Amino acid sequence: MPISTSASPAAISLPSTSPSCCRTRTLRLRAFTPSRTHQKRVSLPACARLIAAAAMPAPEQPKPRVLVAGGGIGGLVFALAARRKGFEVLVLERDMSAVRGEGRYRGPIQLQSNALAVLEAVDAAAADEVMDAGCITGDRVNGIVDGVSGSCYLRHGISFAGGVHLTVPMVFRYIKFDTFTPAAERGLPVTRVISRMTLQQILARAVGDDAILNESHVVDFVDDGNKVTAILEDGRRFEGDILVGADGIWSKVRKTLFGHTDATYSGYTCYTGIADFVPPDIDTVGYRVFLGHKQYFVSSDVGGGKMQWYAFHKEAAGGTDPENGKKKRLLEIFSGWCDNVIDLINATEEEAILRRDIYDRPPTMNWGKGRVTLLGDSVHAMQPNLGQGGCMAIEDGYQLAVELDNAWQESVKSGTPMDIVSSLKRYEKERRLRVAIIHGLARMAAIMATTYRPYLGVGLGPLSANDQLPQWFQDDDALEGAMGGEWYLFPTGAGNSNGSQPIHLIRDEQKSLSVGRSRSDPSNSASSLTLPLPQVSETHATITCKNKAFYVTDLGSEHGRHYRVPPNFPVRFHPSDVIEFGSDQKAVFRVKVLNTLPYESARRKGEQQQQVLQAA
Ligand SMILES: Cc1cc2nc3c(=O)[nH]c(=O)nc-3n(C[C@H](O)[C@H](O)[C@H](O)COP(=O)(O)OP(=O)(O)OC[C@H]3O[C@@H](n4cnc5c(N)ncnc54)[C@H](O)[C@@H]3O)c2cc1C
Repeated sequence: MPISTSASPAAISLPSTSPSCCRTRTLRLRAFTPSRTHQKRVSLPACARLIAAAAMPAPEQPKPRVLVAGGGIGGLVFALAARRKGFEVLVLERDMSAVRGEGRYRGPIQLQSNALAVLEAVDAAAADEVMDAGCITGDRVNGIVDGVSGSCYLRHGISFAGGVHLTVPMVFRYIKFDTFTPAAERGLPVTRVISRMTLQQILARAVGDDAILNESHVVDFVDDGNKVTAILEDGRRFEGDILVGADGIWSKVRKTLFGHTDATYSGYTCYTGIADFVPPDIDTVGYRVFLGHKQYFVSSDVGGGKMQWYAFHKEAAGGTDPENGKKKRLLEIFSGWCDNVIDLINATEEEAILRRDIYDRPPTMNWGKGRVTLLGDSVHAMQPNLGQGGCMAIEDGYQLAVELDNAWQESVKSGTPMDIVSSLKRYEKERRLRVAIIHGLARMAAIMATTYRPYLGVGLGPLSANDQLPQWFQDDDALEGAMGGEWYLFPTGAGNSNGSQPIHLIRDEQKSLSVGRSRSDPSNSASSLTLPLPQVSETHATITCKNKAFYVTDLGSEHGRHYRVPPNFPVRFHPSDVIEFGSDQKAVFRVKVLNTLPYESARRKGEQQQQVLQAA
């Protein structure tokens, strides 16, 4: 709850490099004597240090002291960069545990090459920790596919084979994003995904506990031209030379600077989830965007056997779900979508699914006034479609520290007081255009699903790639061939004699699976699929494997009325295809490739899993 500035019970006036403060070095240390009984006393290591510092003789020209409202990604990176350049920094964070809680809600974050390079420039050791903790996705194929077919391959319409009906999804070409080559060409680190909590912990540790003040909710500030005072909800006041508002999309600093402005609703609500799930193409695909009409779905490997996903759905803001209703709703919204999407939703526990409406804030021309500036989401919150919001906050933090340091060096050289206000304006100027472009692209990406990989020009990263990567980009067969997992035929037709058990297809070129009304070779149960249905011929079809690809061959069955391709001609099929034996939609199977069976029941019941593996 905001309080009036005059109600402040305590004030700490910190040394300043502003002309007047430099001369007088007045330190008012009426700290922590709350006059109101409801205000609790807190342990304040950073303040204690500042009080101690006040008792020491003043150095010739102390660097400005910077207050940072918000210890999120942007605030912490700036604090780290500024500290490494010798500035005294105090981060005022509303609730550090909530930050980490919030991190849990938002799941892992993708840090792209530009942001990783900036981290290296800020603090090589912290950057190393981040890179070690992250899961590299940039060394695999990432891209956009059709949400319904989920297919990565250029195939056409529908083709039919004799009494075997093979439905091939209508797809457009898989649009692949090569995040590796642009990074490697510029000597940048390769894109990674990292848990927000881990990132926050690494950054906070690097900044130092003494520079982060938890439970410090900034609600207001006063800039008197010589210093700036941050005012907290509980009445405490902190003085510094600069205030950086890194307090996120609902920034109080921004509101005090420019008045209230509404954030812009993107039109999309976003469900996020994380699941213990390893897709069969884990070695070849990093993240994938599945497109649909007024909805889309993003899945990404986040390492440790987990997949993270975002499900976007166009609807009015403010919607809620009944208790335990998120998964059910998602399965309705994405009903008919490809297995990659459905399996992932199914594999996610209800409690691991969260929902939030997506807002952004178009960046403005002015990012601050006087001694106060903004950084990250507080000034340019963007839609998450490019995975650049946090990356831009990181870049902001670095640039701001660079501008402050430049101004400081200049003041030392010229022997004049540091021009703080101009340095903040230079920071804005350096960042404005770049951030505006990326903000716009992020908005466009919601519609167009495009991406942008910028380059800041610092840092070196690992340059080794999987040597098959170029081939995967050019050759879809190679991409499919490199996919792990096991192939199954999942019965979907009404009259399947095999109950609901999937058929496991064995990748063995010496063996074929024969499909027919009765078992062709009673002595070899592993190679027969018996479909005792009138529309299935005695010996109807065979399924074979060659070079890791599967083919179905119609054996000239008598029961295909509608569809004819030359009999005895092997037709290749792919994941998500639907194969029908006969023509009355009773013996219908969907092709799926899985590492593990995603359905919770199957995962939990070993017995059931056993049945699946024995089914073929
Ligand atoms: C679903 C989703 C997915 C995303 N995925 C990615 C991605 O993959 N890659 C990427 O780069 N970006 C991504 N983003 C964007 C990214 O999360 C934000 O851009 C980033 O967190 C902004 O960092 P920040 O430090 O500016 O703000 P925040 O991370 O919001 O941090 C603000 C901090 O300030 C604190 N605070 C707030 N108010 C006050 C106050 N009054 N006083 C004191 N402290 C306060 C908060 O507790 C918080 O710690 C995604 C966003 C969403 C919604």
